[in-house]
Amino acid sequence: MVSTADLPILKEPEGTGSVTDGRWRLAGVLGVPDELGGSGPFELVVRNGIIATLRSIDKRDEHERAASRLVLVPLLVNAHDHGRGTGNVLAGIADGPLEPWIASLRARKDTTSQVALVGDACRAMLASGVGATVICVNPQGPDTAAEVYAAAQAARDVGIRAAIVYPFADTMDQVYGRSRDAVGWDPTEVERHLESVERVAAGVEDGLIEVQLGPVGPQWVSESTLAAIAVSARRTGRRVHMHLLESPAQRAWADRTYPEGIVNFLDRIGLLGAHVCFAHGTQLRSDELASLADNGCVLSLNASSNLRLSSGIPPVAEAQRAGLDLGAGLDGMALGDDADYWNELRLLRGLGQAQTGQVIEAGPLFERLARGGRRALGSCAPKVPATDGVADFVLLDLGDYRHLVGRDDWSVADVALAAGRPEFVREVWVGGRAVLARAASPSTTTRAEPSGEVAS
Ligand SMILES: [Zn+2]
Repeated sequence: MVSTADLPILKEPEGTGSVTDGRWRLAGVLGVPDELGGSGPFELVVRNGIIATLRSIDKRDEHERAASRLVLVPLLVNAHDHGRGTGNVLAGIADGPLEPWIASLRARKDTTSQVALVGDACRAMLASGVGATVICVNPQGPDTAAEVYAAAQAARDVGIRAAIVYPFADTMDQVYGRSRDAVGWDPTEVERHLESVERVAAGVEDGLIEVQLGPVGPQWVSESTLAAIAVSARRTGRRVHMHLLESPAQRAWADRTYPEGIVNFLDRIGLLGAHVCFAHGTQLRSDELASLADNGCVLSLNASSNLRLSSGIPPVAEAQRAGLDLGAGLDGMALGDDADYWNELRLLRGLGQAQTGQVIEAGPLFERLARGGRRALGSCAPKVPATDGVADFVLLDLGDYRHLVGRDDWSVADVALAAGRPEFVREVWVGGRAVLARAASPSTTTRAEPSGEVAS
């Protein structure tokens, strides 16, 4: 786990003296409009948080080509997380099958604040290049609204874009799943929570933060509350984020409780749509994946988490075949408990390749996951890097892999996916501000001298 003390956070968004200007030479760019091409060299200039210049430099100039090891990558998006502080391993919570694992989470003695849980997790994400995340709040006490607010404040203090998900779970005492007639909150209580969502949202939403409705999972929310959330989402336009068929026990519950199909049930009550992102779907069948795709839903795949919690193998290939918009989520459970998004990407790609026997190309994979991630984030999604757009990007130092850029048999995306790792992340810009910067190694001469007009 990355120690939060090690992270060179430059500033908080509200602070003065924020870094909003810079100028770089780049070896390559990925995930940007096609006319720029992939391999550089490029010049990138940011002024007052806006990309003033993003253009290729004469490729015949070998000196320019050799001068940079930096690659521009769109801001990485974590499409599903909770904010697990410095990680479950440090907290002494061992991996295990989901349902008993949830019990061990609840039994955690050293209850910590939402500010620490979300803040520490977001700092670790930033160190990996993740500048935008979904945070499904796991309440530590009875005041859910206060904890959602605290989570939003913690994300804002770190400077990360965040969709903060307000949890609804009125039958979660039955960890293996409720019955159809289980009684949850009465209508007044549901309404009180829905009003809290709007009140918190009015206080924290600002383009970098969005609040979403979070029925935690169909097995843990009563039917009447699920229906009320569906109605509220359609009335307010608020996005919904929900766990769905994560574990074998949840699959068994769904088949036992909803013989007509759990996805059909969700469709019937209005909980499928382009405004909904589901998390996991590890146990989804192909007809259910097709139904989610037909309804325009997003699915966050969380491969590391599924492996650590004995939940199953995410349906990478099947979901792609179904045409479903996909995001990549860490779920606070990266394999090394370190928020390493690059390893997560390689894991997803590897699983998809194992499921098909085919190579999954890096460029389309980056593009697909970025698109799904942006949809999961809603109004707080990062922008695609482009001239005159706000600065949302990662500068990745390719280090010893630099020589592969420009070769015909390696795209920039191929190199980034193969070589990317948190320690190669040099800078992270979010919403026009540099929120993380690491000094270049002595052998690197990537950052051009600022010109007179650019304050750096
Ligand atoms: Zn989760």
